[in-house]
Amino acid sequence: TPLDRIRNFSIIAHIDHGKSTLADRLIQRTGGLTDREMSAQVLDNMDIEKERGITIKAQTVRLNYRAKDGLDYELSLMDTPGHVDFAYEVSRSLAACEGALLVVDAAQGVEAQTLANVYQSIEHDHEIVPVINKIDLPAAEPDKVKKEIEDIIGISAEDAVLASAKSGIGIDEVLEAIVTRIPPPKGDREAPLKAMLVDSWYDPYLGVVILVRVVEGVLRKGQEIKFMATGTRHLVDRVGCMRPKIEQLTELAAGEIGFITAQIKEVSQTAVGDTITDAKKPTAEALPGFKTVQPVVFCGLFPVDAADFEKLRDSLYKLRLNDASFSFEAESSAALGFGFRCGFLGLLHLEIIQERLTREYDLDLITTAPSVVYKIQLAHGKGELDLHNPADMPDVMQIASIDEPWIEATIYVPDEYLGSLLKLCQDRRGIQKNLTYVSGRAQITYELPLNEVVFDFYDRLKSISRGYASFDYHQIGYREGDLVKMSIMVNAEPVDALSMIVHRSTAETRGRGMCERLKDLIPRHLFKIPVQAAIGGKVIARETIAAMRKDVTAKCYGGDASRKRKLLDKQKEGKKRMREYGSVQIPQEAFIAALRMG
Ligand code: GDP
Ligand code: MG
Repeated sequence: TPLDRIRNFSIIAHIDHGKSTLADRLIQRTGGLTDREMSAQVLDNMDIEKERGITIKAQTVRLNYRAKDGLDYELSLMDTPGHVDFAYEVSRSLAACEGALLVVDAAQGVEAQTLANVYQSIEHDHEIVPVINKIDLPAAEPDKVKKEIEDIIGISAEDAVLASAKSGIGIDEVLEAIVTRIPPPKGDREAPLKAMLVDSWYDPYLGVVILVRVVEGVLRKGQEIKFMATGTRHLVDRVGCMRPKIEQLTELAAGEIGFITAQIKEVSQTAVGDTITDAKKPTAEALPGFKTVQPVVFCGLFPVDAADFEKLRDSLYKLRLNDASFSFEAESSAALGFGFRCGFLGLLHLEIIQERLTREYDLDLITTAPSVVYKIQLAHGKGELDLHNPADMPDVMQIASIDEPWIEATIYVPDEYLGSLLKLCQDRRGIQKNLTYVSGRAQITYELPLNEVVFDFYDRLKSISRGYASFDYHQIGYREGDLVKMSIMVNAEPVDALSMIVHRSTAETRGRGMCERLKDLIPRHLFKIPVQAAIGGKVIARETIAAMRKDVTAKCYGGDASRKRKLLDKQKEGKKRMREYGSVQIPQEAFIAALRMG
């Protein structure tokens, strides 16, 4: 296809504003699917995605469209993941396109996540076509939303397309806008091959499938290619595109988006953002913007039943086949036995993996407190240490300082919930940077330590605002903090899984809350159980779980005082033995529940 007949675009939207519905509608209108095939949403194909209404893995579809000018166009629709945890994948997908449809719900207006994505799109010099969706709703206010787009985002919304993806209104207008407003790609087809690895996934029949955007040259079946960042070579055995069904092609030329397979066994061998070139006639320079994604949130996953350890390992291997962005290594804990320390791109990513392990692999798991990565400057110039697990924290004497990751968060919230929201951010050590009002809603920018966000910030935000607040963030680097390791001791034994790194100013409140919750969560035993929170040996909070009293003297009828005393002594001894050697039974729910802050 000649360059001027190609259009590559993505769809940007806040969750639930109608991205997937619009995509399906475009596929249907251009003939990619029959009505029956349309019945299920095509682009979101995992159960969890469907339930949560988010797109986890990007999918791409090629559409053929005969425009009003009578010419045939090849449109590539790139679906981008819809969550901040996958920001890098989003940035690569956007880099593969020349324009974007900005879908905004006509009743909801612009939300935090719309913004984050639209700014990235602007950074990639995209032509942005606003689409005001759901105009069929009685609550739709397209004019108000147009004004919001102009005021908040700062792009013209005069020519916004008014649409209802659900009822099929405005779909032709969207297609025409793609052809007339989004520029065609550029690229020299005679130059050596230069293509971007946009995404990859594991297919049980095809092996690893790689989504590519060819920037220069031509990618052919049978060609020997080289991944510039990873340095490996492969033979291309399939070239094609998705409509959304797979269609094999002989080549993909500059400007085109499609997929290849090259007998690759694991997605970990393919790095998103890498440059693919011809092994024999390589391009001089790799594409800009490549980076290796690093997990930012870590936690331990332990099987409730120790016998499930192997099963957990196999399941983690299987999940990793399709997701190279999470990591795991074996770990053992005195309290929880054998399990794995896992790293994730963010909290949602953690939840997705945890949920898949439970649901698809039928595993009962204990999850330990999520932790961010701290940078510890060791004393006496002994260098720097990345700390992923609070249990590995060196002794205070060996630490010069601790740095923690910070984020900048953008929050949108209706006026009435503003007060409680500001309090929440303040309680989490937030630094307010900005507060403005746009159409009855406050837009707040806060700098927050990531550590204060990974626990239950998002849940709290949603419950404070009855679900109306929206939240988005990006990392802004490391800052020194007065951080300490808080250990939790149950019956004088430290419980690794519950130890966490906290700011000194919040340690006592956190410690007290934790002890209070544990007191209710751990059932009574035959002996008294102290529950303590401590910082470096100093107890900062304490609760006691009273003993279940078994009255051993009940059977002695009065009289014989010495016999009674003997029995009591024996019981005391028994208690002592239990305290010394006995182990406390902590129920599984206690671990997760204890980590939720009140
Ligand atoms: P996404 O999260 O942006 O992909 O949103 P979806 O396409 O999954 O849509 C979210 C919800 O909005 C679904 O229940 C859709 O049926 C509904 N929806 C999408 N478009 C429209 C529309 O034009 N009008 C109405 N009334 N509902 C819509
Ligand atoms: Mg969707």
